Amino acid sequence: MTLEERYDSRFSTSRALWERARRVIPRGATHDVRYLEPFPPYIVEAKGTRKWDVDGNEFIDFTMGHGSLMMGHGHPAIREAVEAQLARGTHLGGCHPLEVELAERVQRLVPCAERVEFVVSGTEATALAIRIARAHTGRSKIAKFQGHFHGWNDYAVEGMVEPFDLPVSSGIPPGVLESVVILPLDLDAVRDLLKSDPDVAGVIMEPAGAHSGQVPLSRAFLVDLREITREHGALLIFDEVVTGFRWAPGGAQEYYQIVPDLAAFAKILGGGFSSGAVAGRREVMAVLEYCDEDWNRRRRMMHSGTFNVNPVAAAAGCAMLDLVADGEAQKRAMEANQALIQGINQALRRQQVRGCVFGGVSVMNVYVGPDNICDKISTCDGRHCTFDPHLLLKGMGRFKPKLHRSLVLHGFDILGGNRGWISAVHSAKDIEEGIAAFEAAVVDLKESGDL
Ligand code: PMP
Repeated sequence: MTLEERYDSRFSTSRALWERARRVIPRGATHDVRYLEPFPPYIVEAKGTRKWDVDGNEFIDFTMGHGSLMMGHGHPAIREAVEAQLARGTHLGGCHPLEVELAERVQRLVPCAERVEFVVSGTEATALAIRIARAHTGRSKIAKFQGHFHGWNDYAVEGMVEPFDLPVSSGIPPGVLESVVILPLDLDAVRDLLKSDPDVAGVIMEPAGAHSGQVPLSRAFLVDLREITREHGALLIFDEVVTGFRWAPGGAQEYYQIVPDLAAFAKILGGGFSSGAVAGRREVMAVLEYCDEDWNRRRRMMHSGTFNVNPVAAAAGCAMLDLVADGEAQKRAMEANQALIQGINQALRRQQVRGCVFGGVSVMNVYVGPDNICDKISTCDGRHCTFDPHLLLKGMGRFKPKLHRSLVLHGFDILGGNRGWISAVHSAKDIEEGIAAFEAAVVDLKESGDL
């Protein structure tokens, strides 16, 4: 049986659902990254670090709710908090104590969080941070780096993939595109821009590097960027949707000891539910405050949202932040990730496959296959990779969906086929079985001639 035939027979109920989905959901999937040919498995249940599809297949979950489930599925403390809140109401249509509780936790943990404003997703958080930066500075442009991902809002999506001068998506008006400056990963370019253009409100970036660290950045880069932005009165905005509460309890800003003016959060903040927030300096966040009539009408920044800090999400978020507050969970996840990375790299070496898996903290990036620019049989962990960022950004090219399918077939669940999220509850057995599944997927691809 070919790989395709095996896939078809293993996931036959999923195929039927896919046929139905394509008649009602554009592209059949609800997120670009969940699209998978010939079709994705449909998941019905998840517990701890495992999940099961409609055909009864089991997966080791290295997607972990796109990185939102730091404590795995169904952690008892989070379930208990959610169930208690469900009994009290799912939308209280007003202010509630849990919003204060959650904001106080963020304030306690995150260095820049003098004030906290809630939204419902990472995309909303970066959009809000951008509006706050513009409102506070009275400037209109936003600068961002090539390849850095900040969700799908019009202002942040540009410059994600090459060629960087070609819009990433249709449907974004030219006026919006003109208000966003795409920068190369070059501090001189940042300096030149801020020197020559006084209309730049802020620089937004992923502090761990583009695509959750797929193109790693050094701390020295952040130190200089902090300095340059301060010098020119532009705000430094960290997109901590991935790094927040993961790199350290206080996020990348604690991990690298660099405090931005504003930071966007989501994922872990929601404890598995939709949530997001912007945290920042009190003086900057003051654009949201009510004051006199003239200020309110002419200077104040408006913000609303029916589901902002929904009480169920807030209950889950509070429980989650309590579980990750002392840094032990982050340490456990990082150790598990290191073991996984080391084991997979050894397997790649055994199989004589070029490239490697690598990653900072508790995210794993996969970089293997025939289109891979690395000509070495895996001998490094990728962390000190000297490849050109443009090449790293290209990723695995046409090989990625093939690897993804093969990993799915072997019960290794990974976001988009190239990014793994490791939680604090992945056990030694999960890691061991994960390494074996990855190797089996690679062996299949060698046998099919794809590798
Ligand atoms: N910023 C970063 C760095 C992200 O990785 C993501 C999503 N993975 C977002 C923003 C958007 O978050 P959401 O999917 O919650 O809109």
